[in-house]
Amino acid sequence: MDLTLLKTALADLGQPAYRAGQVWEWTARGATGYDAMTNLPAELRSALAERVPFSTLELVDQAESRDGTVKALFLTDDARPVEAVMMRYRDGRRSICVSSQSGCPLTCAFCATGTMAFGRNLTAWEIVDQALHFRRIEPIDHCVFMGMGEPMMNLDNVLAACDLLPEVGVTHRRTTVSTVGWLPGLKQFNAQDRPLRLALSLHSADPELRSEIMPVNDRYPLEDVLNACREQWHKTNRKVFVEYVMLGGVNDHTTHARKLAAALTPHEAFKVNLIPYNPTGTGFEGSGRTTIGAFRDRLQEAGVVATVRLTRGRDIAAACGQLVAEHAA
Ligand code: SF4
Repeated sequence: MDLTLLKTALADLGQPAYRAGQVWEWTARGATGYDAMTNLPAELRSALAERVPFSTLELVDQAESRDGTVKALFLTDDARPVEAVMMRYRDGRRSICVSSQSGCPLTCAFCATGTMAFGRNLTAWEIVDQALHFRRIEPIDHCVFMGMGEPMMNLDNVLAACDLLPEVGVTHRRTTVSTVGWLPGLKQFNAQDRPLRLALSLHSADPELRSEIMPVNDRYPLEDVLNACREQWHKTNRKVFVEYVMLGGVNDHTTHARKLAAALTPHEAFKVNLIPYNPTGTGFEGSGRTTIGAFRDRLQEAGVVATVRLTRGRDIAAACGQLVAEHAA
């Protein structure tokens, strides 16, 4: 919901300012429309329904995996595709993965979103509306900015969205903002004081290989990016998550594990998540389970904390950009 538009509409209707707070409170708690807002006069509810769309996004497809993962595809009002996912865990956690841009300009070779044309940055309302969609299904408590787009290229809107998420159920401490190493945004992130988590999508500690699969590495070298991550760790005393997607025969050899362990110093500043690759039609294959296990063991022997991420939603194309690609096919 566009709260600026809501406030303008309420002012035009001669309504007191507190009405905006009432509408937002209902919306953040998962109301499905203005009709549910029983402490608002009926005429006001219908006047708002005419003037302010209940969501800035239109749901165009939704799929649910056997493991409970729900993936949604939306369109903005200028017909830009946006994807978001909700993962349900056995311990009761409900984690959503949201997009910060429609498409992405950074063209990482293994990423379905990177092969799409870049659309535009999403507004804070369009980011929050992804969360609200899932909140209407059930309560949510964790959020990662790992959907379509590079969050640090749209940080003002990402942070504005983060400031609304606690009322939807997701505190700052349970919100993770991820980057492939967009240094200007990362420096801006370090300068703000919300206790958000930082994640770095690293994927190779070898400069040549990293540039090959992630062109952003030519612009902002990994060592500078890691220094910015170390600053965040010094400032918050919280580990920076390192995301490492396991691409079969590309970045999964034990020599790559050694290089990664050497790059991640001091080791206590980082925690590595190894991500089994969900093939996305980009020509890459995922590493086998044994290879991933051996890679994790090498990291652990070197003193780096490393875990293997559970795969979620494989049967519903849950990697970012995949649902859009399927629709386009
Ligand atoms: S991995 Fe992230 S930064 Fe890279 S192309 Fe995909 S969405 Fe963009």
